[in-house]
Amino acid sequence: MTSAKSRRRLAITVAVIAGYVAGTVIATRRGYAFGKNTLVRCRRGHLFTTVWIPGGSVKALRLGFWRLQWCPVGRHVGLVHPVKGADLTDAEREFALAHHDTPIP
Ligand SMILES: [Zn+2]
Repeated sequence: MTSAKSRRRLAITVAVIAGYVAGTVIATRRGYAFGKNTLVRCRRGHLFTTVWIPGGSVKALRLGFWRLQWCPVGRHVGLVHPVKGADLTDAEREFALAHHDTPIP
């Protein structure tokens, strides 16, 4: 038997998941790539790659499109955000791919 309360909880869960999926699809269409090798830039301008699964991060504090995490280039904790691969030069992309933080999402 399903109560009205648990049905409402299920509806909220579905809405939250749908929101994450929609946000990811929109961001991906704008040229951002998420996953195991997401290109990101920190507030100090360092480029590196990280694991960025929208809504699925356990090691970083999420602040919308910004995230507080360890920067392996400057060796500091700072705000980072995804960058579009198309906005970078080949050298910048190579540099970012050569600097990956820990593989734990
Ligand atoms: Zn940095």
